[in-house]
Amino acid sequence: MPEIIHLQAGQCGNQISNEFWKTISEEHGILPDGTYCGTNPKQKERLDVYYTEGNNGKYVPRAILVDLEPGTKDTIMAGPYGNLFHPNNFVFGQNGAGNNWAKGHYTEGAELVDAVMDIVRKEAENTDCLQGFQLTHSLGGGTGSGMGTLLVSKIREEFPDRMLCTYSVVPSPKVSDTVVEPYNATLSLHQLVENTDQTFCIDNQALYDICKSTLKLTDPSYSQLNSLVSKVMSGVTTCLRFPGQLNADLRKLAVNMVPFPRLHFFMPGFAPLTSGASKSFRNITVADLTQQIFSASNMMAACDPVHGKYLTVAAMFRGAVSMKDVDEQMMNVQAKNADRFVSWIPNNVKTAVCDIPPVDLDMAVTFIGNSTAIQDLFKRVNEQFTAMFRRKAYLHWYISEGMDEMEFTEAESNMNDLISEYQQYQDATEDYEEDEDEDYNE
Ligand code: GDP
Repeated sequence: MPEIIHLQAGQCGNQISNEFWKTISEEHGILPDGTYCGTNPKQKERLDVYYTEGNNGKYVPRAILVDLEPGTKDTIMAGPYGNLFHPNNFVFGQNGAGNNWAKGHYTEGAELVDAVMDIVRKEAENTDCLQGFQLTHSLGGGTGSGMGTLLVSKIREEFPDRMLCTYSVVPSPKVSDTVVEPYNATLSLHQLVENTDQTFCIDNQALYDICKSTLKLTDPSYSQLNSLVSKVMSGVTTCLRFPGQLNADLRKLAVNMVPFPRLHFFMPGFAPLTSGASKSFRNITVADLTQQIFSASNMMAACDPVHGKYLTVAAMFRGAVSMKDVDEQMMNVQAKNADRFVSWIPNNVKTAVCDIPPVDLDMAVTFIGNSTAIQDLFKRVNEQFTAMFRRKAYLHWYISEGMDEMEFTEAESNMNDLISEYQQYQDATEDYEEDEDEDYNE
């Protein structure tokens, strides 16, 4: 099986990954000490994608854990799955990045990056047929964002023909009050546009809204936000981890989902989302699930898909669902909402079914949308960026780490270009000839 190398960087990257490893280990029957205890052969069939089997028969995540401060390592080690990871795959600094992208990308992070790349190389050498890499990080801090994108560019340089995918947590003032986060996020996005094949935009604003409105939590904690992230990450990787045909590896997923190389920022979604109190009162059907995943309130990026058009969509149903039922419901949504899908990519909605449900549910569905409405998210960050950059507020923290103001200007204009490109495809019509005629008549 083609293997994936996983990297987790910074506080957020490590915390969401912690949940990811816990969730998928449970799904595959891997105990916290790495022993396999599954009962269904499908749990084991593709374990090699994310785990390396040791000589002692135990499974070790193919994970590299990175941070510029030691705190997160201690938390992971103290958790139930702390011993699952290979002790040599922890790379931790002492000084921290102080929420400064420049420290992560150019100074503190740059000093530690070679140590990480040595492990990346070693892990890559130990694979039979490496399909690619995935990184979890936040865009708002210093390490995951600055050093995370440095790692992305190093990996791109050294493994140009392997797939590179990120789960990137987008900052929201509703969740964090560090003012420079829009700077860090914009500088990161500037890198991700050029260097990744696919980026799942996990937006803290959407996670917060789901926790408040749908799950009725009064003051959502990171651990509550992260339990949503783990649902999405487990869902998105289902096709990679369990036997099946559709989107069975990172490249196939990218080929289906990315019609233009820069437009690879996905809006993930999940259903069902129900508060503990209302859970036992409802019997979920495939029709409910289908209706929910196309709803803005189930999206993990705070963008309303109604504001844009879908270039492509993938939906992964899990559990004892009938393929016929799923197909009918999905066709139904498309027929009713034809104007929400670009007409010039026929069959742009792909659906898969995996009969193994998530651990705590009978059935569920994960959604991946490549929607032009993602520009809402970029516009939000861009506005916050521009408000400060206009006055050059906080810039000295970056300049003093050796950065040039020019890089900020370039990042800002790259973001503006990206927004226009999404808009251009949102407005594009099927009728190419007609467009040309219009030009000709002019
Ligand atoms: P780093 O350690 O320097 O990479 O910094 P952080 O990862 O703490 O980055 C700060 C950003 O990440 C802010 O936008 C936080 O709201 C967000 N963040 C930090 N920890 C978590 C977490 O566990 N879950 C989520 N969803 N967001 C987090």
